Amino acid sequence: MSKFFSGSLSRLSPYTPGEQPKDQQYVKLNANESPYPPSPGVAAALNAQEAANLRLYGDAAAKELKAALAKQYGVGPENVFVANGSDEALNFAFLSYATDGRGVAFADLTYSFYPVFCDLYHIEANIIPVKEDFSLDPKDYYGLHQTIVIANPNAPTSLALSRDQVEGIVKANPDSVVVIDEAYVDFGGESCVALTRAYPNLLVIQTYSKSRSMAGARLGYAIGDAALIQDLETIKFSTNPFNVNSLTMKAGVAALEEQDYYDANCKAIMETREYTAGELRKLGFAVLPSKTNFLFAKKDGMDGAAIYQGLKERGVLIRHFDKDRIRDYNRITIGTKEQMDIFLEKLRELL
Ligand code: PMP
Repeated sequence: MSKFFSGSLSRLSPYTPGEQPKDQQYVKLNANESPYPPSPGVAAALNAQEAANLRLYGDAAAKELKAALAKQYGVGPENVFVANGSDEALNFAFLSYATDGRGVAFADLTYSFYPVFCDLYHIEANIIPVKEDFSLDPKDYYGLHQTIVIANPNAPTSLALSRDQVEGIVKANPDSVVVIDEAYVDFGGESCVALTRAYPNLLVIQTYSKSRSMAGARLGYAIGDAALIQDLETIKFSTNPFNVNSLTMKAGVAALEEQDYYDANCKAIMETREYTAGELRKLGFAVLPSKTNFLFAKKDGMDGAAIYQGLKERGVLIRHFDKDRIRDYNRITIGTKEQMDIFLEKLRELL
């Protein structure tokens, strides 16, 4: 750290992404990436003409992409914000709706970026413990008079609230923004996008990084009431008007034209997930019922970190969180059936 790093920033502990080691070829099940490539139209959209067009600035208004997303989700373009990954949409949401001194509420076990934004913007975090079984009690979020952020389905637990449960929370907090982070919703969750038409305090955030196989392109979006979206636009035009690059915008439009391809991938991943969960249970693991592209599992009497380490030595990467309540667990991204069979084989060897 330099002596010039300003004030309280020197005390920030930044978010740690899943490792991307290059020392050997791993079966990589640690970052919830898709094992499948983007659809053919995405590669075609990144053509030579688009490469030549890189000399020009892209469309800061993201008109084409917003129109395509609006059509896909049955909302207006004024209800869509596009971002450099959903992390950026979350960043702007914390900055826009949570820096008024009332604080932000989120679960103790959830996406570990939320507390980082709180640190960054000096937002007080109201951390609400999930229940013993790691599920969230919607009533804990009623009448909070604070911004609320919920990953649904949740990470790293893989558990989901129903749309009705989320609606209950949104209704019970008419004076606060409720942000629903739906990064994993396409793997069996119930999306709350449709509710945004009825509730001006609901913002739903999604990403191309998981179900649409585009983590490296960095594309996320938020859907909500036009006034909420306008706030995010104000932040964007006050920081980085060209936040989504022109190649990514083209790729994002192309992907929406091949929804069947992505639906089939999600179906395959959900099937492989159920297969893997079954095999893990046969090996004595407790596996949470997942609505995501990953499993959260532990085996009594086995140290979570040791499982992670043993698998890494055998060429399989999963994710372990050295955190209270979940130290015994590992998060295992669902890859192809072949990758999961290698994972299971190495795990049996380890056990
Ligand atoms: N929300 C959750 C719950 C996540 O797990 C992730 C992935 N790390 C993100 C948001 C961010 O994804 P991205 O920025 O790639 O869209």
